[in-house]
Amino acid sequence: MKLTDKITTISGIGPMLSKKLEKLEIFTVFDLLHHLPFRYEDRRIITPIKQIVSGNTITVVGVVSEITNEYTKSGKVIQKAEIGDDSGKILVIWFNQRYLARTVQAGTRVSLYGKADWFGRKLAIISPEIADTDLAGTIVPIYPETAGLTSKWLRKKIREVLDLKLLDESLSVSLRGVHFPNELYEVEKYRRNLAFNELLKFETENLKRRHDWQNRGTSHQFTNPKSQVIKFISDLPFRLTKSQNMVIEEILTDLEKPVAMNRLLEGDVGSGKTVVAAVACLVSNLNGFKSLFMAPTQILALQHFETLSKLMSPFNISVGLVTSQSKSTGDVLVGTQALLNNDIDNVGLVIIDEQHKFGVAQRALLQHKGGTPHVLTMTATPIPRTMALVLYGDLDLSQLTELPVGRKTIKTWVVPEEKRTAAIKWINDQMIKYASQAFWVCSLIDESESLGAIRAVNVEFESLKKSFSNLNLGLLHGRMKNKDEIINKFRDKEIDILVSTPVVEVGIDIPDASIMVIEDAHRFGLAALHQLRGRVGRNGQQAYCLMFSTQDTERLKAMETTHIGSRLAEIDLAIRGAGNIYSTSQHGKSELKIATYKDFDMLPKVREVVLKYKT
Ligand code: ADP
Ligand code: MG
Repeated sequence: MKLTDKITTISGIGPMLSKKLEKLEIFTVFDLLHHLPFRYEDRRIITPIKQIVSGNTITVVGVVSEITNEYTKSGKVIQKAEIGDDSGKILVIWFNQRYLARTVQAGTRVSLYGKADWFGRKLAIISPEIADTDLAGTIVPIYPETAGLTSKWLRKKIREVLDLKLLDESLSVSLRGVHFPNELYEVEKYRRNLAFNELLKFETENLKRRHDWQNRGTSHQFTNPKSQVIKFISDLPFRLTKSQNMVIEEILTDLEKPVAMNRLLEGDVGSGKTVVAAVACLVSNLNGFKSLFMAPTQILALQHFETLSKLMSPFNISVGLVTSQSKSTGDVLVGTQALLNNDIDNVGLVIIDEQHKFGVAQRALLQHKGGTPHVLTMTATPIPRTMALVLYGDLDLSQLTELPVGRKTIKTWVVPEEKRTAAIKWINDQMIKYASQAFWVCSLIDESESLGAIRAVNVEFESLKKSFSNLNLGLLHGRMKNKDEIINKFRDKEIDILVSTPVVEVGIDIPDASIMVIEDAHRFGLAALHQLRGRVGRNGQQAYCLMFSTQDTERLKAMETTHIGSRLAEIDLAIRGAGNIYSTSQHGKSELKIATYKDFDMLPKVREVVLKYKT
């Protein structure tokens, strides 16, 4: 058996179990071994029964002397047992677990783990877990579970596979140290080892991709038509930001190199990525090459087509639109994925907007058109620089870190609960005065017990209807079938306030929406809040974001003063020290599952090792 083998090669794991394991993202033997506990129960101390104190969670080992089912007045059934050890006896109570009277018979030795409390006038252990007796005296790992796959099962399987001795010594020691630690304080050390390995693999893949790219043969080495570029920039109806100028420099430097550019441009919505891309298209054209500009949707393709047509026309550069409906030609071709189906030669530059929507395979296709063109991918996903340098380590990174001057910043406030009534009144007044529209975002669909006070969207909707009786309210959430219909109604202004789950985060453009209200804002990452906020004020009007929250207000306050997504993402990570918030799987790369932001301090060492073994 190898680590890369499918999970079904492990004895006792068939198609049924492997389906369940997939839900935990476990596909291979390696994945199973790297499914780490998220907490531990310290059951090393076995408490003698005589020493049990109410309120404590304890491990007890003893012999069952009696177990019975008893009916309560309300018709429920409870299980009462008595267990004893050398020091004494104690009552044990379970609720509604009839089968226990059959499985735990008098005379058996059991290990119980649970909380001691008063049951009537008697001290008892209430609803304890009946553990394998061999867990008593150990630190017990608790894993992320899924229906039909318990920690108990995972624990057993992981131990079995570790005992097969498939691994080299150091990996084996680290994995055992995390799964079955002898001391809790040692867990972090071993987890760091595993994180190091993971980063090492990730960086090796990045470096390989980088190498493969550079070894694709010579690219179209452009010359920089300086005077034309200056003319283009000075003819724009606005002055470029410092950030835009810097990024253009970086791109032009790339284009003059014998190796094809492979660069990621990250910048918030509205930071002005399109005009930066347009400069690259201009340079490509003046060097005698075509440019492809690929957008993820029809609407965006059309929008880019119009923008670029305007920007390019003074230079006699023709712009064409290629979608499933339209197929025109030109020096710069803007389009959807339909661009992939066309044989276009002499392509010197490829621009991919919102890169995360494209699969790696599709991108590879584009990159082959007409030899090795320069590639610029663009994204508005807020990501801290340090993080981007790792996750996109195969690409060079440029960031737009400011918005054009004069852009109205969205006035943002964290609103405490006691100001809710006043805030609702203010919103009402605003909406009537400016005939504007509002989003009202809640984080859940149903009120759920475990999440207590969270304002679920359904409940909120009903109560808001009362608060805004003079306005039209609409409800939108992910489980609804007629989402498009609702959104269209909102766009047509038949709905004034759209009460919704965070589904609005994904590309809705409602020009007259000026107010974004977010309930339980502390439940969101700052980057996500920033993207939500970006949904309002798209027509250049003054817009507002009100975040209701009673928790975590220090962190949320950053939203009031910071308006750049990547910076907010950074602040969030610094405060929360959060883990794997950025999923990389969608980019077709392997994912970081163990390493988190706080492990990035190991990167210099990781890179040293990667370079050492490169050759
Ligand atoms: P994004 O980065 O989201 O793709 P766009 O390129 O669509 O942003 O730019 C948003 C708007 O800002 C466009 O109307 C564009 O013309 C304008 N714009 C871009 N750069 C500047 C600037 N330096 N000053 C003022 N407006 C700008
Ligand atoms: Mg854009």
